Amino acid sequence: MQWINKRDKKNRKYAHRLVNHFLNDAWDKENNCYVNCDFDTFKRLGRFKSLLYREQQGYCCYCMRKLDLKDRGKSTIEHVMPHKVEKKDVAYYYAHTPHLRKNVRVLLINKDTPRLSNLRPYPHFCAYENLVLSCSGAIYRTGNPEIEIASQLHECCNNPRGSERVIPMFFIRGVAFEYNEDGTMDFPTEYEESIKYLRLETTNNLCLIRKCWAAIVKYYNISDVKRAITDYSLRNDILMDTTLEFHEAKRMKNDLYWQLLYEYRWFDGYFRRKKQGS
Ligand SMILES: [Zn+2]
Repeated sequence: MQWINKRDKKNRKYAHRLVNHFLNDAWDKENNCYVNCDFDTFKRLGRFKSLLYREQQGYCCYCMRKLDLKDRGKSTIEHVMPHKVEKKDVAYYYAHTPHLRKNVRVLLINKDTPRLSNLRPYPHFCAYENLVLSCSGAIYRTGNPEIEIASQLHECCNNPRGSERVIPMFFIRGVAFEYNEDGTMDFPTEYEESIKYLRLETTNNLCLIRKCWAAIVKYYNISDVKRAITDYSLRNDILMDTTLEFHEAKRMKNDLYWQLLYEYRWFDGYFRRKKQGS
């Protein structure tokens, strides 16, 4: 996981301009009501999504998969305070994220909502401070990924989370969060429930991907993994040099798993830094 900075002045200014524009545009002067002022319309704002992408260096806020904005189904805008947030949970989110309290209010808009006299704090469904980019959780499950339908797989991150209470760990700088060489994670007990809802540790193939990177950085690097997407014998060599179990290496040998491994290339840097530090 990496820290997501929502306090960069330039980004904030730009994001607020986009949101102001969206809210003002949705007001129908003739009929005196809001029209299409909802998340479904908002999420189509390509420029907003691109801003989130840049802010996160293109990685999923939860699992660190590299996203691809051209492949729309692969990424989705995630609400820190859920779209359907329950009243009793609002204080929880405000307490964990100081900048939410200041910039975000719980408000969904429909045609009966009177015109907002002040746009700030922003309605939570479109507030920049409440939005991040997540992957769709398309992690293959079996040894035959070719027959799995990627667009229907939601194994981790925002989909399984739904509206469950999750601490926005990516807003906490220097959080004590570690990935181990066997693919498991170490984190303070207060995050246990959040990690469970996001299935970051219980999605077996996600753990396998992390385990594989931890083993690969010992002798190889990102460019080797990239080359091995098409160079099958290099892929074999890499796998032979890892300490993966036979059935794990067999799984990773598959084209689709290897491509998935490359999408998780953030872990190359992570385990490399960890190795140097140890
Ligand atoms: Zn993810």
